[in-house]
Amino acid sequence: MAVPITKAMIVARNDIVRKMKNGEYRTTENPCICGKINGIILAENDRYDIPIKTVLCESCGLVRSDPYYDENTLGQFYSKEYRPLYTGTDKATSEFFMSQKTFGRIIKNLLSEKIFNGKLTGKRIFEIGCGAGGILEAFKENGNEVFGCDYGRSYIEFGNTRNLNLVEGSAETLKQFGTADIVILNHTLEHMLKPQEELERIKTLLSPNGVLYIALPGIYSIHDTYRGDLMGYLQNAHVWYFTLKTLNSLLAKSGFELIYGNEIITAIYKSKSGTNSTETENSKKILDYLKKTKRLRWYYALKKFSFRHVAFETFRLTGPLYRVTRGIYRKLKQK
Ligand SMILES: [Zn+2]
Repeated sequence: MAVPITKAMIVARNDIVRKMKNGEYRTTENPCICGKINGIILAENDRYDIPIKTVLCESCGLVRSDPYYDENTLGQFYSKEYRPLYTGTDKATSEFFMSQKTFGRIIKNLLSEKIFNGKLTGKRIFEIGCGAGGILEAFKENGNEVFGCDYGRSYIEFGNTRNLNLVEGSAETLKQFGTADIVILNHTLEHMLKPQEELERIKTLLSPNGVLYIALPGIYSIHDTYRGDLMGYLQNAHVWYFTLKTLNSLLAKSGFELIYGNEIITAIYKSKSGTNSTETENSKKILDYLKKTKRLRWYYALKKFSFRHVAFETFRLTGPLYRVTRGIYRKLKQK
């Protein structure tokens, strides 16, 4: 296993593998967005040792899972195993909400600095795939109007108890609230089966001067964020893996152009005004990067190694003990 894993995660992982074997979970061909059907196989399993092929398109450089789960399978996977597999629990917790809020403040500060001259207030913000709504809470505390949607009912209910306006479902459900100055897609786009169609729909939710914020794990950040470990980067919940260039190409097809972006990936887009074309990714460059990252993995791991981190992760995985201590720490901090 390429990542630390808890008991609840193992149960979810084994359920998926069993359902795939007995045909309850099915996969279907997933061609590249550019239309090509073949590619170079990068891996046969994901970080949890779940069998899933990751393929690089030689023509456009987009990396995808192919074959991938069909729509019916995805619906069941997201309602049953997704949260336990990735967070260790299917319930939204205060801890999860607070960590979302911390990220929300980072996103808010970035948008405020890059787009709104330091004054991000009185805006209308939509988030698609909002979880419990912690990110939106960070915007709300600065006098912004916020709305979110997600498929996870228990997460939506958690956010509603915190007086957030969250609804269950897709981007379509946000139409009832009009248009937004900012739409947030935080680690969401890479999960979408038909991202181009979704982005075109999202575009209709944006006001004419509105901006789209997208964050997702970029391929060219594997050496840093994942300590050079490709296997730690691959997740069965991800249909697509982007570089900034392949992301820009997809966004251009959906009518957007880049305002700000990096390879982590954190990016801000606006509606495309002209017909200027985007630069195409070079698939050979991606292969070279992955080869180099593999060769120097020991170096990247060493660079990121810290005893504090290892101690923290070990402690975190002990579960209940961690939560109790964290609770006490939070209470003391509030005083
Ligand atoms: Zn392609």
